[in-house]
Amino acid sequence: MGRVLITTSLFPEVIERLRQAGHEVDVREGLPSLDAVADIHALICPLSLPVQADLLDAAPQLRIVANLGVGVDNIDLKAASARGVLVSNTPDVLTEATADLGWALLLAVARRIVETDGELRAEGFPGWVFLPPHLGVDVYGRTLGVVGFGRIGQAVARRGHGFAMNLLYASRSRKPDAEKALGARCVSLNELLQQSDFVVLCVPLTSETRHLIGGRELRLMKKDAILVNIARGPVLDEASLVSALRDGTIRGAGLDVFEDEPRVHPGLLELKAVVLTPHIGSATAATRRSMATLACDAVLAVFAGGRPANLVNPLAARSG
Ligand code: NAP
Repeated sequence: MGRVLITTSLFPEVIERLRQAGHEVDVREGLPSLDAVADIHALICPLSLPVQADLLDAAPQLRIVANLGVGVDNIDLKAASARGVLVSNTPDVLTEATADLGWALLLAVARRIVETDGELRAEGFPGWVFLPPHLGVDVYGRTLGVVGFGRIGQAVARRGHGFAMNLLYASRSRKPDAEKALGARCVSLNELLQQSDFVVLCVPLTSETRHLIGGRELRLMKKDAILVNIARGPVLDEASLVSALRDGTIRGAGLDVFEDEPRVHPGLLELKAVVLTPHIGSATAATRRSMATLACDAVLAVFAGGRPANLVNPLAARSG
């Protein structure tokens, strides 16, 4: 029998699966106290929970942290590995939903959907006009630059292929198969920023990608360009983005993630050329159910003496 702590609301059937397998499950939303983890064997947590050395030290029996997300920047992987704690994540199942959301933001900013919806609700529909004050920009056939060409980045590009876009990407390694399938071209980050009409950020948050896009990078972009961040907030220097939007360095931005969540830079809230969503990239019912199932599978695998399919730290000191 294993003891599982779940620090977020989860689908009841997933919790029931753990209980049916004979495990003790405690659901306590939010940041757990160090006492609450003293005797747990498994932790299922959202990416908003920092899993650092202090929590790991307070949980000497912990065998697995099943993160409800693909990004694991909330977890000190080195500290977990050193203590033999396995870490799993939820890749693939959230790829398409997150790419869809990236595109929803891109289209919403390009065609001023949120701004015009707000005006219509507040002021009514004044009738069709040939030259409205809110002309948008074309998307079809233009240039899309994807930064970080992994699962989500390529899914964003596939959608761009459907919009007959010229596809550029900047990533850590070349992706010849995707280049061939989509006609995407690998370029430097600088070149991508200079040539793209739309830039979508899809990199993980690491020490190398923190503030990957700051004032210098924003100034390289076209004046009419739109930036979308569906990666992690700190990949983008938010203060520099606010300045760039205020002085017209770029046209607009769509943001699903923020530098210091849940805080949102107040400057962003004042700008009409920005569409903001509260980190909902993977938030469809089907995707969240798949993510919860994967996390549950990972815990059950470890309790059965195996390793989770989506193991992030295979070199953890001892197996579960
Ligand atoms: P992935 O398949 O690992 O793709 C990440 C890509 O970024 C890889 O191609 C990787 O290169 C590249 N990369 C890594 N470091 C880089 C660097 N320093 N410079 C340039 N490229 C770099 O991950 P994914 O499944 O697409 O997810 C990407 C990220 O999206 C996650 O880590 C997460 O933070 C974020 N995300 C956000 C939401 C949301 O709700 N908004 C939802 C899901 C995911 P290699 O191919 O060489 O490894």
